[in-house]
Parts: sequence; structure tokens; C-alpha cells
Amino acid sequence: MNWDEFEHWGQHISSWAADYHKDIRNRPVRAQTAKGEIAAALPPAPPETGEAMETIMVDFERIVMPGITHWQHPRFFAYFPANAAPPSMLADMLITTVAAQCMLWQTSPAATEMEGVMVDWLRQALGLPDGFAGVIQDSASSATLSAVLTMREIASGWRGNKEGMSGQGRMRIYCSEEVHSSIDRACWVAGIGQDNLVKIGTGGPARMMDTAALAARIAEDRAAGYVPAGIIAITGGTGMGASDTLASVLEIAKAEGLYTHLDAAWAGAAMICPEYRKEFWEGVEGFDSIVFNPHKWLGAQFDCSVQFLKDPQHQINTLKIEPEYLRTGGDAVTNYSEWTIPLGRRFRALKLWFLMRSYGLEGLRSRIRNHVNWAHKLAERLDAHPRFEVVTQPILSLFTFRLTGVDDAGQFAFVERINDDGRIYVTQTRVGGDMVVRFQIGQFDCTIDDINTAYDVLCELAEAL
Ligand SMILES: *Cc1c(COP(=O)(O)O)cnc(C)c1O
Repeated sequence: MNWDEFEHWGQHISSWAADYHKDIRNRPVRAQTAKGEIAAALPPAPPETGEAMETIMVDFERIVMPGITHWQHPRFFAYFPANAAPPSMLADMLITTVAAQCMLWQTSPAATEMEGVMVDWLRQALGLPDGFAGVIQDSASSATLSAVLTMREIASGWRGNKEGMSGQGRMRIYCSEEVHSSIDRACWVAGIGQDNLVKIGTGGPARMMDTAALAARIAEDRAAGYVPAGIIAITGGTGMGASDTLASVLEIAKAEGLYTHLDAAWAGAAMICPEYRKEFWEGVEGFDSIVFNPHKWLGAQFDCSVQFLKDPQHQINTLKIEPEYLRTGGDAVTNYSEWTIPLGRRFRALKLWFLMRSYGLEGLRSRIRNHVNWAHKLAERLDAHPRFEVVTQPILSLFTFRLTGVDDAGQFAFVERINDDGRIYVTQTRVGGDMVVRFQIGQFDCTIDDINTAYDVLCELAEAL
């Protein structure tokens, strides 16, 4: 392909993108294809000679698009929002075009310097105090793994990387039973082990960690010869939005001298609205590490996960490695690849720059405030309907409900029915062992009409059961 052809197809794809988004409400939200259908439509072996772009694009529409679940659909209420606001998509196109590897300052000073400034813009937007630094990672999973490795290195007296884990004391990391599976996996991969990730029970409407039980468990483990290494707290757990009381978790961490990490991957975006901070984030400035995903609710195209660090030197001491071919001379500069596990890194900060400049913080806040208000109103309406009962009240814009008088299998069948219908998309979860329907509002282009449609669809499909 020469650059003239690239220009032609680039313009074609831009038009396609705009049309796709303008017309997206007419598509079923969840892909409606059966297992194996897409694979069967693809040739089993690669072509020996090149094919025309026309043919490739036709096949893209014909084969690929039916197998896409539309994450940017305004009536996507499943999992979590994965917003790709148009300005961030444009930034991502530029990043893809320039295709710089931004591992060291000198491999693209603009990327490193903008990353520092964008992390600081977000720090201010979230109301975190001066002094937190940060780095943009690909995912919250990677940020959490970096934090767990740091816990491990501190607790081993910086011997884990060098000697391996077999000679170290048996470490333990603490969290609540509501944490995301990325915390389990970080502990597997870091050599801590599932058995040494201690999950503390929860209570209260926000299912917060029982900190008295946490303190007791740490004391018990110390007495039994374990080495407590860190505590991981959550703001906005994935199941139903569980949120720990940060100040009491931190009090224990401080008394025990433990490194702390906060997983606010989804809910962190809402903290750009000062009014939610008192309930969800009081004391947050005490954490050593905090992760939040602008690639979820805030609107930055995936991937863009920000990890704030109170003292980045701990994580740099854990992850920095400097072979001769990566050494740079001159003044001390920030080389962000020393803060993370992968060496190669994209210019992710550009997406945040485009996003925050295009909408302004007020533009981003107004969306989040609408989502939270609509979630409360929808939960109220559903609770008032005889076929539904709300099981967990909205935590920000996430709540759960169930059909009345129906068992777990019936709830699951209801979810399947909704998603086969295609007008909206929801997922299920368990609360206290019982199957419930999980509903989150967070799509960038969602309107009150979409929420009213969701209510109508839920009622219609429940009546038809
Ligand atoms: C989405 C989510 C994660 C995982 O985020 P990735 O960026 O996909 O790794 C972790 N924790 C919580 C609370 C989440 O909502």
C-alpha cells in the first residue's frame, strides 16, 4: 500500500467510523452470532498473494461486524463502561500514526513530559494532594501487579528479585472478599500465592472490609510466623461497587508498617466530582499506590490506566533494570519504563490531553453526575414495580436487582433473554450467594431516553416470562 492509497482508505475509514457511531443505536448491543460462526467464515490459511483493500473492507463488514459486541453503544449497561470519546479516538489515531516507543525520555521527550503533566492534571482533578507522582500503565491489572511486586520487595528486604521467593519468609497480603480477580492474579504471578492472599469479610451496605477482623488476622499471622507485606483496598468493587472505609484500613496499615494499594479502577473517574469524595475517598491521600482507569468511565480510549504513587522510588527500585543499551547520558530524566513491567510503551498521555481539553473537567463531570442520578432514579422505579426488587442500592451508578419470586436459574435466564433481545445489554453477578442482575450506567453518549428504554425493555421482557 502506498501513501496515496493510505490516504484514500484513511478517509474512507474515518467516514465509516462516524457513520458507525451515528447509527449505533440500531444495532443489537451484544453480538448475536453463535460460537464458531466467525472462525468458520475465515479462510483457514493465509493468502499467498496480496488482496485489494476493497475486498478486505467488504469482508470486514460482512464477517467481522456481526461478531462485535458494541461497547460504545449508549445502551451498554453490562460489565463497566469502556468509553472511547471521539477526541481520544483521534488522539489514538495520531499515536498509531507516529508509532513512537516511549520507554525512555529520549525515545520521545514529548511523551514523557506530557505524561508527567497529564498525571498531574488528573491528580488535581481527583483532589489528591501535591506530591503524588504517577505513571500511565496499560491496565489496572498491570498497576496492581506492580504494587504487589513492590510490597514483596519491601517485605523481603529487597531480596525477592535477586534470590527468588523460595528462601523468603511466607508473605501475606490482605484485602476484602469483594476485590477484583486482578488482585488474585497479581498474587499468583508475584509468587505470593493464592493461599497467602487473605480475604477479609465485609459488612454494611457498601460491603466494606471488616477492619477489626483485618487487624486481628494480621496479629494472628505475625504470631504464626508469616510476614505481612501489604494491604489492598477498593473503591467501587466490580460485583456491586463495594467500597472500603479508607481511613480505617490506613490506620491499620500505618500501625503495622504495611505498603498500601487502592483499586479504584472503575469508580476513580467519579472522584473528579468533589461531592462524591467524602463518602468514597476520605483519607485516600494516605495510600502508597492508587490505580484508576481513565479508559473506563472518564472517556479515554483503551488503554489508559493511571497509577498514582506517593513515593515512586519504591516501585522504581522494584522494577528498574538498566542494561547498557538502555543507558542514557546527560541530566537526570524520567524514564517511565523503569516504573512498569513492560519496556515498550505507547504515547498514552496524548489521549488524556485531547480528552480533557475538548470537554473540560466540567464536561466530564456533568456526564458522570447524570449517570449517578439516572442510576438512582432507575433503581427506584424498578423497586416500585411488582416484578422487581432492588438487591443492592446504587453505589455511584452501579446497582443490582432481581426478579421477584424467581430462583437463580430464572434470574440467569432473564439476563440471557435480555441480551438475546439486543436492545440493552446487562450482566449478572452474585450478592450474598444469590444471583442478581447487575446494572451500571456509564456510557458517554447515554441519554435519559436510553434509560427509559431500558426500563421499558426490562418490564416488557419480565411480563413476557
Ligand atoms: C476493570 C477493573 C479492574 C481491571 O482493569 P483492567 O484495566 O482491565 O486490568 C480491576 N479492578 C476493578 C475494580 C475494575 O473495575
